[in-house]
Amino acid sequence: MSTAADPGPPLIALEGLRKTYGGHGGAPAVEVLHGIDLTIRAGEFVAIVGSSGSGKSTLMHLLGCLDRPSAGRYLFAGRDVAQLDADALARLRREAFGFVFQGYHLIPTESAQENVEVPAVYAGTPGPQRAARARALLARLGLAERLDHRPHQLSGGQQQRVSIARALMNGGRIVLADEPTGALDSASGREVMALFDELADAGHTVILITHDREVAQRARRVIELRDGRIVGDSGADARCFQAKSASSAHGAGASSYEFDSSESPDATRGALREALRTAWRTMCLHRVRTALTLLGIVIGVASVIVMLAVGEGARQRVVAQLGTMGTTILYVSSRPPPTGGAASPITEDDLAALAALPEIRRVLPVIGDPITVRRGGADRSTYVFAAGSEMPAVHRWAVARGRYFTDVEDRELAPLVVLGHKAAAHFFPDDPEPIGLQLLIGNSQFEVIGVMAERGADSGAQDYDDMVFIPYRAGRARVYQVQVQPDYVVIEARTAADVLPAEAAIRRTLAARHGGREDFGIGNAGARLQAEAETRRSMALMLGLVAAVSLVVGGIGVMNVMLMAVRERTREIGIRMATGARRSDILRQFMVEAVLVTLTGGAVGVAIGLAVGGALIASKVPIVFSLTAIAGAFVCAVATGLVFGFMPARQAAALDPVVALSSE
Ligand code: ADP
Ligand code: MG
Repeated sequence: MSTAADPGPPLIALEGLRKTYGGHGGAPAVEVLHGIDLTIRAGEFVAIVGSSGSGKSTLMHLLGCLDRPSAGRYLFAGRDVAQLDADALARLRREAFGFVFQGYHLIPTESAQENVEVPAVYAGTPGPQRAARARALLARLGLAERLDHRPHQLSGGQQQRVSIARALMNGGRIVLADEPTGALDSASGREVMALFDELADAGHTVILITHDREVAQRARRVIELRDGRIVGDSGADARCFQAKSASSAHGAGASSYEFDSSESPDATRGALREALRTAWRTMCLHRVRTALTLLGIVIGVASVIVMLAVGEGARQRVVAQLGTMGTTILYVSSRPPPTGGAASPITEDDLAALAALPEIRRVLPVIGDPITVRRGGADRSTYVFAAGSEMPAVHRWAVARGRYFTDVEDRELAPLVVLGHKAAAHFFPDDPEPIGLQLLIGNSQFEVIGVMAERGADSGAQDYDDMVFIPYRAGRARVYQVQVQPDYVVIEARTAADVLPAEAAIRRTLAARHGGREDFGIGNAGARLQAEAETRRSMALMLGLVAAVSLVVGGIGVMNVMLMAVRERTREIGIRMATGARRSDILRQFMVEAVLVTLTGGAVGVAIGLAVGGALIASKVPIVFSLTAIAGAFVCAVATGLVFGFMPARQAAALDPVVALSSE
């Protein structure tokens, strides 16, 4: 019988709907709904009444698409709900339904207004519009003064009204209310019922679930449920076919629902912002827990940064030494030959022969040992460096005051001494210009003719600034009398390219002069320093690796805390899903939390790393920060959060709305 006012397919049509719980994992299967046939038209005000345990809540979860039936069909506006995927169901819940739960189900950490806004967040309503609507709804429900109160600061009746406001936030075309007056005193109960009356008058479809017959009588149609079967139905409310036709905004016909799961970019942006906000709030709420979790990441990031900086510092220091000593330096010293027997000494003639080689620029014989040096009444063991006149040139070192001795003075065994900068300060504290004064080295008087420039700490292990320098031959004659040959000879090749040919030439020349025996060793400063640099660097790298392991441990800490958060907030997840959050929204929310936590940890780690590095610099440890290392450690920390946060987040997103809602 089709007329002009034909409303099309009914809003809700249930055909033989059954729901069975359990049946797997040992629990016996219990059928709670035994084939429900029910039709509800848009604009009806229906009460479903039944005693406790008769299956009312189960039916409501099925009606609200929070759960799937075990058998039978549910046609919503003519469309079989079983064919919709999770996202389409989320969208349907968000656009069609407004839930008023028995236990209010407000998010405890959010204010009244924020709770009301949640469904609009996932619908992509712009922030200001959302806030205005939430405030207007709360004001209409008499909660204008309670916008910023958290649920625990509200009475039961007030919480119930907040949840009603939330149900209306996205329009609430179908309001599904489970025992809305169950936990309220009679006055609050009456107020809430009056509200549903108004909503029904305004064209909302209201489905009210109650065990209270008196409450049910307020509705315009009463359906009685007993042990999972409909045992009574007062019949469809005739009024909704007359006054409320297609003209009513809320009594919309079947054609006005969208079933596809696509989302606007606004919704995604809104959800992301919401995720950031809640993530920040959660982190602040659990400060101690967050801080403890972050410790691993903070330590990891900080130590990676410091270790790599120490390694780089060591490397650059060696490079600097190469710079001051030059890459053209070779060392020669006498050594017992591998063929056995004693080594013959490196003589003056040997040195002259080496100096004559075309690949060689300078030859510097050196003897050095700590000797007692006396000035007036004070004496002190001082390293006395006896070397040729080429010492400043070979060491790329300048004389600050006075002069250095010459080769002629060396050959004449002149008793002259040049002081290192610290040695000068030590022996002549009151005399900034000690030139011409005397110093007793061993048992001989030496005249001070100069003071070297300050060399600083980067010049190697020995402190050259604390030494005194005397001519090689005078040293041998007057101080190191028993010594027949230099401790070692520093040889400077003409160019870096000459180093290897020079080494070969030295070997040839000395071997020929020593009767064919190789009773000497040749070292290459560049190679030695580079090997040392490699050792130090690989050590720092290993320490960096240990630090990276602590990053992973930190990541596991993040996973642990996220798993705990998911468990703690399962009900919140259920609430968000019931009000229209998709799985991807939930996934995103927990991922954002994990990433925010690790971002914070990474930032604190970088700060501590820089602070520790600063302290090391202040205590003269050579370290060099590398931007790559800092960025790398930071990115690693965040990646750790992503990787280890993913599992808990996915676990949260996979929860069924009903299961999540009913968790404790
Ligand atoms: P009502 O809301 O009418 O009090 P419910 O729909 O909550 O009834 O429950 C109906 C029956 O289904 C009860 O016997 C209850 O024990 C059972 N039940 C409800 N939820 C579950 C569940 N998740 N697992 C197993 N049994 C359930
Ligand atoms: Mg119930």
